[in-house]
Amino acid sequence: MFIEILNYKVFRGSKNQCIDLIRSSEKINIISGNPEILYNGLQDSVLFKSYTDKTTLIIPDGIGTILSAKILRTPVSEKIAGIEVMDELIKTAMSNGEGIYLLGAKQETVVKCAENLKLKYKELNVLGYHNGYFDIDNCEELVTEIKGLKPKMIFVAMGCPRQELFISKYMDMLPCSIFMGVGGSFDIIAGNLQRAPKWMIKLGLEWLYRVVKEPFRIKRLFVIPKFLLKVIKDKRKKNEKNN
Ligand code: UDP
Repeated sequence: MFIEILNYKVFRGSKNQCIDLIRSSEKINIISGNPEILYNGLQDSVLFKSYTDKTTLIIPDGIGTILSAKILRTPVSEKIAGIEVMDELIKTAMSNGEGIYLLGAKQETVVKCAENLKLKYKELNVLGYHNGYFDIDNCEELVTEIKGLKPKMIFVAMGCPRQELFISKYMDMLPCSIFMGVGGSFDIIAGNLQRAPKWMIKLGLEWLYRVVKEPFRIKRLFVIPKFLLKVIKDKRKKNEKNN
């Protein structure tokens, strides 16, 4: 059910299989494996260790990851967007009466995000929330609060690598089963930002939509060709070794 991309184990099954796998895990850290997030892991040993830990599940999010899988001739079943996994998990939390915690984004955004989730999922138990602007090396009070609330799931929206670093640092300490870094998802749920139209998502053009809406993202796109180049070089190296 997995493929290997640059020493990362990436999930290749369907979104439904992904949700089943997450729900059947005792403790799991879900990484939205887009090229930017995966490339950051190649530059930072703490991140790399966390991404390759046995409790980590990397989902193929982003056209660059889908292309990489094709280049390696091990295509994935489908692109799995982090925000869609979050939505599915929240539905399961609601139907099982489990609590969730929202950590990240600006104060007004996380408040609005919690409100909108409760409007959409009436029975959802949002146990608590906190904005994403604090010192992650110095946040005992926050960690104690989350420990006391015992949420089943914690969604962390502080951008990469901050959200991944927070999770790798506190995962063992916190009693949650499901940890997930969700980038700008709280902004989308709060209504500050919108996802690309469905046809653009289908064509793998969500990145283009985001750049048009937030032009400062253009610089961040350069990581896609850099990542693909690394994949191609790594494939060549492996082929040479095998011949
Ligand atoms: N963010 C945060 N703390 C910080 C920096 C950013 O909570 O110190 C939040 C920011 O407010 C925004 C989210 O992280 O809601 C965004 O991340 P970004 O758009 O970079 O994530 P992406 O979706 O690109 O991964």
